[in-house]
Formats: sequence, C-alpha cells, structure tokens
Amino acid sequence: MSDIQSKDSSKVGAFKKLSAVKGMNDVLPGESAKWEWLESKVRSLMAQYAYRNIRTPIVEPTALFVRGLGEVTDIVEKEMYSFEDRLNGEALTLRPESTAGVVRAVVEHNMLYEGGKRLYYMGPMFRHERPQRGRYRQFHQIGAEVLGFQGPEIDAEVILLAHDLWQAIGLKDVRLELNSLGQPPERLAHRAALISHFEKHPDVLDEDAKRRLYTNPLRILDTKNPAMKEVVESAPQLMDFLGEVSLAHFNALRQILDMNGVRYTLNPRLVRGMDYYNLTVFEFITDQLGSQGTVCGGGRYDYLIEQVGGKPAPAVGWALGLERVLALLEEQGALPPDAVPDAYAIVPDAGSLPLVLKYLRSLRAFGIKVQMHAGSGEGVGSMKSQFKKADGSGAAYALIFGADELSQNKVSVKSLRDGNGAQRSESLDSLETWAHSLQSPH
Ligand code: ATP
Ligand code: MG
Repeated sequence: MSDIQSKDSSKVGAFKKLSAVKGMNDVLPGESAKWEWLESKVRSLMAQYAYRNIRTPIVEPTALFVRGLGEVTDIVEKEMYSFEDRLNGEALTLRPESTAGVVRAVVEHNMLYEGGKRLYYMGPMFRHERPQRGRYRQFHQIGAEVLGFQGPEIDAEVILLAHDLWQAIGLKDVRLELNSLGQPPERLAHRAALISHFEKHPDVLDEDAKRRLYTNPLRILDTKNPAMKEVVESAPQLMDFLGEVSLAHFNALRQILDMNGVRYTLNPRLVRGMDYYNLTVFEFITDQLGSQGTVCGGGRYDYLIEQVGGKPAPAVGWALGLERVLALLEEQGALPPDAVPDAYAIVPDAGSLPLVLKYLRSLRAFGIKVQMHAGSGEGVGSMKSQFKKADGSGAAYALIFGADELSQNKVSVKSLRDGNGAQRSESLDSLETWAHSLQSPH
C-alpha cells in the first residue's frame, strides 16, 4: 500500500488527504480579493512614479545569494531552500528575496546601457523560518529597485514612493526609521571598534554572535535575541565613523524628506539583514503586529551590481511584506469589502441555460458583473434555493430568466437589497438601454 493510499481514519474517499507545506499558505477567494486590491493600488502608483515591472525566475543559482546577500547572514546560513538540479547537479535556490535576482537580470541584459532604470516586482519568496503570525516560509514581497543613479534624491524618491503607497492604501501608524551604513572604509574602522566592544562581553554573546564575531560582526547588531539587547545598544555606532561625503549624502536625504513632510526617526542600530547595503538604510515599522513589526525595508546597495559581475553602478530599493501590510490594514479596518457580482441570474428551467449564457455574455460586454446559477446535482434546483444562492452571492439584483419571460424576449429584474424587492420587466432585445442600471457604484 502506498503512502498516500492508507487506511487512515482522516480519509474520506480512497486517498489520504494531503496538506500544504508547513508555513506555506493558500490564499483563498475573499482573501485573494484583498491581495488583488493591494496589487492594483501598487501598480497604479508605480505607473505614476514611472517604475516598470520586472519578472525574474523563482529559482536562481545558489551562488547568486551567497555572493550577493553574504555568506554570514541568517538567510544564507539557515533559511534558504537549496537543492541540486537532479539532472546536471547545478546548485539552485528558491529565491529568499528578489534584489539579487533583479540585479542579475539587469546585468545579464545590459539594462543600464542607456542609463538608469526604475523597476518593481511582486511575487513569492521562500525562507525556512519558524512559522508564526507575520512570518511564513512562502511569503510575498513587493519591491522597488532603482539602478544607475547616485544622488540622495533617489534614496528620497524610493522612500517617498513607499510613503505615498501607505497613503494610497490608507495604512496608518507606520514609522520610518533611518540610518546610514557609510562606505566600506568607514565600515572597516567601525568593524574593528565593534569587535573590541563585543570581545569585552563574551558571556552575553549567543552562538550566532560568537560565530560571527570575526566574520561579520555587523550582523550581530541585527540580532533578534532580547538577551543581547544591552550589549548591542552600547555598541559603537556607525554614524560616528562616517566621513564628510557619507554624512553629506545622509543629510541631503534628510533635508529632502523634511521638505516633503515625511517624518522619520534616526536609528543608529538599524543595519538590515543582508550584507549588500551601504549608506542609506531604512525600515517602515508598526507597533500593531507584535514582534513582526517591520512592514518594509530597504536601502542603498552600490556594490551589488559589481559583485554580481556587472559594471559598477549605484542602486537603491526596498521590499515590503504583503502579508504584513494586509494584516496591518485588517487590524486597522482599512480593507475594502469583498467584491460581489452586480447581478445573479436565476434560471428556473435547466433547458434555458444555453440561451441564458448568451444573454449574460452580452450583459458582461456592457461591464456588468453577473453570476449564472448552476445546479450542483440533478437539475438547477427550486426557485427558492436559487433565490437563496442569489442572496448569498451579495449581488444587488436577481435576473429571472423564466420560460414565460424568455418566450417574450424578456427578463425580470428584481432588487435584492432595497427591502421591498421591487421587480421590473426588461427587454432582452435592448440590453443597451438598461444594462447600466445594474451596475453598482463601486
Ligand atoms: P525580519 O527582520 O522580520 O526577519 P527581514 O529583515 O528578514 O525581516 P527583509 O529581508 O528586509 O526582511 O524583507 C522585507 C520585508 O519582507 C520585511 O520587512 C517583511 O515585511 C517581509 N518578510 C521578510 N521575511 C518574511 C517572512 N518570513 N514572512 C513574511 N514576511 C516576511
Ligand atoms: Mg528575517
């Protein structure tokens, strides 16, 4: 007996039920309507900012992430879904994030040849984390990446883009935290100070921190271990190691944000989880989602393009977590109601269905959202049960395609929501004169 064909008590039919992989969720209708709503808001805002969509593969060479994100990072050390291609043994990974893939594509297609590019993406990412609210193994990001531009006004542009997105979707109470990670020589000086600071407190360092002390001490600052809070807070701050040029970049960015009325707080301990960042880093954070409070994070990554094999070029971007943004909108009661059809077609006689199908397509061509009744067993069911379905669909109107009506090329239109169920008769020969009256205002 095979593993899927067992005498398990949980089975209903001949086969045992299978479930989704832990930490990976189905998005069912109702929920998916919210996703589509958010995605469409993002698309129209991206168009206003003249950012263009890019779609890269979900599977990339493992080396891309090891090289791009850094060997000594949570993602590369413990969170990647990696496997060998069965046929040629190539080391592959389900993308844990999309910046590296976008950069790979930009380099591969020589996209910066005629100047900078503004791009955005949406899609699933994969990280082997401990599943909890706001933290999944398949989750979804929307990201913006701007490549080929140097100045702080571009850092400001991507931050404003995110800020405007919160406005467009009605998201409240996210605060912006800002820091600068400086440039490699500044990081090197800070690194030495950081190592000697942590060396003085060996007993509070956890396993990860001990392992990273000499390979990537900056990562220790990104710890989620509350026991290390104090040693991290007393650590030397990168800001104190920044030279004039880095400071000027940071101050210019702050000025632009001030000018645009974007409020932020400085967080000298904000370092982000990947190694590719330099200069500006930022996060949008909420207190309303427990410990999974970062809804969006990003920064500058001026050295990644070169690391992936391209001609050096500056870049900046961010990614937001769709599940977290939706959870926060839900928390704030800011999600739109589920979409419903305008009308529900009641068909008392199954023999009329072919003709009704034809009329409904004509109505749809006038922009009406209409759902046709269909039977789930023998026949189409009683009028009463059809009306129950019509009511449950949320439609404002029932269209009754009775045999009598059809023989006169007519349909009865009954209001389902106005209380007294007003009913009128309309001609199927002149749909264009009344179809629009079925349309709901939104
Ligand atoms: P965290 O500190 O919460 O682990 P991160 O720094 O690893 O987040 P990024 O890699 O910057 O996150 O990804 C950007 C955004 O994607 C996060 O701010 C978050 O909203 C979302 N995100 C990251 N990991 C997950 C996950 N496992 N499940 C759901 N959303 C996630
Ligand atoms: Mg993480």
